[in-house]
Amino acid sequence: MDAESLLDGLNERQYAAVTHTGGPLVVMAGAGSGKTRVLTRRIAHRVVIGDTDPRRVLALTFTRKAAAELRTRLRHLGLRDDVVAGTFHGVALTQLRQRWAERGITPPAILDRKYRFVSQLMGRRPGVEPLDVVSEIEWARARLVSPEQYPVAAELAGRTSPLPPAELAELIHRFAQEKRQRRVVDFDDLLALAARDLLVDPDYAAAVRWRHRHLYVDEFQDVNPLQHELLKAWRGQSSDLFVVGDPNQAIYGWNGADPNLLRTFTRREPDATVIDLTDNYRSTPQILGAAFAALGGRGGQMTANRSDGPLPTITAYASDHDEARGIAEAIRAAKTVDRPWADQAVLVRTNAQLVPIEQALVTAGVPTRVRGGSGPLATPEVKAELRVLGRSGGNLLDALRELDENLALAASKTDDLAAADIERNQNVDALSRLAHDYLTIDPSPTGPGLLAWVTTIAAGDVHLDHDAVELATFHGAKGLEWPIVYLAGLEQGFVPISHARTAEQIAEEQRLLYVGVTRAEHTLSLSWAAERTFGTRPAKRQPSPHLGALQAAIQRLDRGRWSVDWQTQVSRSRHALGTETAPTRPVTPFEPATTPEDQVLAALQAWRRNRARAADVPAFVIFTDQTLRALVQRMPANRAQLAATPGVGAVKLDRYGDELLDLLRQSTRSR
Ligand code: ATP
Ligand code: MG
Repeated sequence: MDAESLLDGLNERQYAAVTHTGGPLVVMAGAGSGKTRVLTRRIAHRVVIGDTDPRRVLALTFTRKAAAELRTRLRHLGLRDDVVAGTFHGVALTQLRQRWAERGITPPAILDRKYRFVSQLMGRRPGVEPLDVVSEIEWARARLVSPEQYPVAAELAGRTSPLPPAELAELIHRFAQEKRQRRVVDFDDLLALAARDLLVDPDYAAAVRWRHRHLYVDEFQDVNPLQHELLKAWRGQSSDLFVVGDPNQAIYGWNGADPNLLRTFTRREPDATVIDLTDNYRSTPQILGAAFAALGGRGGQMTANRSDGPLPTITAYASDHDEARGIAEAIRAAKTVDRPWADQAVLVRTNAQLVPIEQALVTAGVPTRVRGGSGPLATPEVKAELRVLGRSGGNLLDALRELDENLALAASKTDDLAAADIERNQNVDALSRLAHDYLTIDPSPTGPGLLAWVTTIAAGDVHLDHDAVELATFHGAKGLEWPIVYLAGLEQGFVPISHARTAEQIAEEQRLLYVGVTRAEHTLSLSWAAERTFGTRPAKRQPSPHLGALQAAIQRLDRGRWSVDWQTQVSRSRHALGTETAPTRPVTPFEPATTPEDQVLAALQAWRRNRARAADVPAFVIFTDQTLRALVQRMPANRAQLAATPGVGAVKLDRYGDELLDLLRQSTRSR
């Protein structure tokens, strides 16, 4: 791409950020305002105008998915495999491996089963969940909190220590000691060791800093103090630093991230230039309205650049299975010839929630992104190829070239191959892509380096490029976008998550919901289930407390659309309120007559209001507006027809079926 086209289509502030020269630069702006776009364009533009050697760029982010997104976008801008774009952990690991190789040090084993390690260390402690202990250990590490400081720091941060704080401090200490003794390192050690190497050896630091002399960080609100130390070590005295972030999307505080590092950036960097982006390019005004409500009306509202789209919907399902089935049906219905599956994503708060959804999608014949250990990495053909690449030592590039040639040859003969062979080739192709990703972050790639990277950093992150609906957690979806997004399981206990207790933790959960909502470009479907099975135990569920605000926002947006015609609006809102009070303005003789449908809807709304009042829940918990409209449209006359109406699940049918049929029957008679 030429310099001009890289500046094409940027707004004034984006342009300023892309072309800024001299001094550190920070862009702080809302979701979908083009932060990542500016970051990738700036890299590409500087390369094209000859200001930057792409091999000297280090672009950092925090999740593997986000790193993959960065690489994809850079490739689209014409930068192939040159720029180092990865996570802090990934880059630190490759740096260390290189250093160890140079110095003839046998690399320590990476501790990937921390849970087991810590439970052994704890001994039998009934009632104490080792995972909670692990997250305290990790939090302390991320915050650079020593065992001695832990009790006070934890108290100040409002942590609930799973063990008495002094005991946990002792465990943190023993954990570090035990790792040293067994000569294993965990992921956080990678960061600390990489930083230490730079601090103790100025010549080495100068070489590394020369290699990574243009620094970029996406999603800077999620940096933790340990990562920040490493960033400082990489940076040295250089002012060639560009960071982008959004404090309203800070979602890793629980794990030790410190969004203040973004907020106070200019205090630490008095020379920094700050650029704010206020235009949103991702989402329709309707989705932005919902996003604003999800944040509790806080945060600057952005100007929407997209045209109107459908209103977000809220669906209450009787059970998690109904919800999963409902989403699968909606996904199938939205699939058209020119809309690939990959345009749709289902996002949830916890990994476990993905299981019933994935099952329902598979049952409905919807392809999903293969996740975790069951992906292509686990297949025998990929394991075999990985062994070959791993053994290639310093000749990884040759081995990879050979693999790519074989793949290209196989691809040219697809017509003659059996389906199973095609699938095997696709799996190996996924490995090849992963290996190319590895090449981007390791300047002197080797077979063992690839093996270490694939099995530690990239494990569970390999997926085939086939067209599929993406399933992800809110955390995993950060920085990504899809035309159609389903946010499922919006229930108390998930949104906010049950272990969030302090005001700060609850605020973080709210930001997480904002991250979820702002992934949607055009269509947003929110849902929850009144019953959910955990193991074999079904449990009653309540809607997320945020759904009330979202519902209210959706209603406001709905009214906004009608506001062009205030008479209609008055008429409709009168019906909606079910009141007979005179309108505040004189009604002209042209006021549209109410239709029979309006009357049925008003009757249903009045019924719903009474029911909601009696049960002390928001109205949409009884039935959403969408369901009421579906009832008016279909006018079900018996239980079977009622059950077939979208939004009427088994529980609702049982509870309200007779009343509703009565009400609808009366309405029909009076028509
Ligand atoms: P997030 O905070 O969610 O990571 P972001 O600020 O990084 O969001 P981007 O992902 O860079 O936002 O941009 C959102 C979408 O808007 C992308 O599809 C991007 O290509 C598009 N976009 C950004 N700026 C413009 C523009 N000036 N013109 C057209 N499209 C744009
Ligand atoms: Mg982004």
